[in-house]
Amino acid sequence: MKGIITVFLLASVMISGSALARPDWMKDSISNLEKELTGKYGAEQSARLVKGMDQVAGFWREEDGDAEVFEEFVRVNFAGDEKTLDDLFNRWEFLLESIYGHMNEIRMAMGRYADLDIGPMYAIDRVTASYSASAHIADDFFSNKLAFTVLLNFPLTTLEERLTDGEGWTRRQWADVRLAQWFSRRVPSSVNLELAKASAASDQYIADYNIWMHHLLNDKGERLFPPKMRLLSHWNLRDQIKADYGNSEGGLERQRMIQKVMERIVDQTIPEIVVNNPHVDWNPYSNEVWPAGVNDSDSEPPAGMKVSGDREPDTRYSIWFNTFKASTLVDKYSPTAPTLIARRFNEEREIPEEQVENMLVQVCSSPLVKQISEMAKKKLGRDLEPFDIWYNGFRSMGKYSEPELDKVARGKYPTAKDFEKDIERMLVALDFPADRAEYLAGKILVEPARGSGHAAGSGMCSAPARLRTRVGEEGMDYKGFNIAVHEMGHNVEQVLSLCDVDYYVLQGVPNVAFTEAFAFVFQGNDIMLLELEQDKGGRAEAMSTINDFWMTVEIGAVSLIDMKAWRWMYEHPDATPAEFKAAVILFSKEVWNTYFADIFGKKDVTILAVYSHMVHSFLYLPDYAIGHMIAFQVKEQMREAGNIGVEFERMAIAGRIAPDLWMKNATGKRVSADALIEATERALKELD
Ligand SMILES: [Zn+2]
Repeated sequence: MKGIITVFLLASVMISGSALARPDWMKDSISNLEKELTGKYGAEQSARLVKGMDQVAGFWREEDGDAEVFEEFVRVNFAGDEKTLDDLFNRWEFLLESIYGHMNEIRMAMGRYADLDIGPMYAIDRVTASYSASAHIADDFFSNKLAFTVLLNFPLTTLEERLTDGEGWTRRQWADVRLAQWFSRRVPSSVNLELAKASAASDQYIADYNIWMHHLLNDKGERLFPPKMRLLSHWNLRDQIKADYGNSEGGLERQRMIQKVMERIVDQTIPEIVVNNPHVDWNPYSNEVWPAGVNDSDSEPPAGMKVSGDREPDTRYSIWFNTFKASTLVDKYSPTAPTLIARRFNEEREIPEEQVENMLVQVCSSPLVKQISEMAKKKLGRDLEPFDIWYNGFRSMGKYSEPELDKVARGKYPTAKDFEKDIERMLVALDFPADRAEYLAGKILVEPARGSGHAAGSGMCSAPARLRTRVGEEGMDYKGFNIAVHEMGHNVEQVLSLCDVDYYVLQGVPNVAFTEAFAFVFQGNDIMLLELEQDKGGRAEAMSTINDFWMTVEIGAVSLIDMKAWRWMYEHPDATPAEFKAAVILFSKEVWNTYFADIFGKKDVTILAVYSHMVHSFLYLPDYAIGHMIAFQVKEQMREAGNIGVEFERMAIAGRIAPDLWMKNATGKRVSADALIEATERALKELD
């Protein structure tokens, strides 16, 4: 559901600044209609009428009709009194829930055999899963003018208005604003197609960017990694660095080698031929390459393969830059958010760019970073090296071993249905009142997933939220249970914020970070939900807080580079990939030198720019960082209130209002990094 709605919520447009030219007759038509309809409905309707006509005019295209069609449309569809306006509003509430609720059910049905582990998969299953019945609704609703009836009667707003005036709005005023946003953008399908192409190309580039680790040689010609090990950049490379902290034999040398590989990906000195290719050996230090056989390996190069050390020709930056180019095509259809940056911050996150940047800087520049790095140094017994930005040793061993936990989980949940039957008990254990636990459990359907699991919310209250979870042949293991509990948090939020929010158009949470916060709260109580004794507070929790803080610092710094890169592209729309590369390298060094050079004792490090999201995710990275901060705000509130269930429900039913407003309602404070920082300070004291 979220996916479908997002398409419609991408833009909030004040029409007066529209970049699209209006037909000559429009001005006269509007002033004639103003006189005519103000006479009919009274002067008090005039401001609303003028704004509505202006909004319609901003989206009107030649094919929508001439002056006569426009004037007739306004005459027939302007709601001149409160009663008519309410009737219109209520119809849209009903229609949107029906349309998107059923569209979501169609999507679930079409994806059923691809998503669920209920027998073999056939070729047809992939095709049905990729079909989207709702793809053309936006176009349809503009061409039959339904979208214009909304734009004529309900106000489009800017982020600034929503943030400054929004606090004084009634719930219904918020609902009016969200209804208008549903139709706040009319991007031609040719532009959407270009965007989809650039996005697919970048996805493909990232999905195939593997490094064959056994084929890496050090200066002594030794292979540090086992045969067949293939690591996807950057996720697997980063996770291998983390895994090698547990390898006292050659872990450190491996970590250094991965760092070198990352540097070469970032500066594109990596030989093009080694990417996703098991037929060549490579020394990332000297940057020499050989056919794999020469160095005594099992993978002979195919006949005719020419082994050359030519570097990757800045492909990474050209693909990334193309996502920017495609994004700029949307700009002129989005007059008050005329950049992808504005759309990301003002319309999707609804937290201004400056506020997000301040939050990231606050965390990265906190003196806590230094303190925690000292802890890491002590634990490692050596000075820090740049890759230690991914240090993951801030954990204390739990009471139970993983095999023990597997046994308990498998015993409780041989099938997905057994998990479903247990939801009500788990919700009561999480402090939901008995009747609410029963109600919520009744709206969650648990199904066996092919993948690792996900929570698929419903689009209408009469349909269930779906918890998809992985159950092995021997039952659900602990890892599966831990994820299922996380998804259950999403499902409970989905049910409450759909069925218990007062208006359908206000359903949901302000942005994705908020639903993750709820899911993390559930997940953090997983041991208790297995009816085992969970360490509450104390050392274990302190360590996990410190781990979260360190991760937020890392992803916060990465986000700052991503933000600088997008600003630079907008300032240099005609740049070459090589120029863009130089800029990104400069930003990586700047960010590193500002926050980490002293702590790590090394300057000009570039590895933070290795994140694949930068290349294919259109400035998504800051969501991860603010997600951690929002999770802490929510968690701290529940800790202070001493009650998860009641607080959860109180927070969730605020629906999709502005993030700061939501957070003030939830915790008394706006969205900020303070809760994370305070919790980390407390954790450090606890460990002292
Ligand atoms: Zn999640």
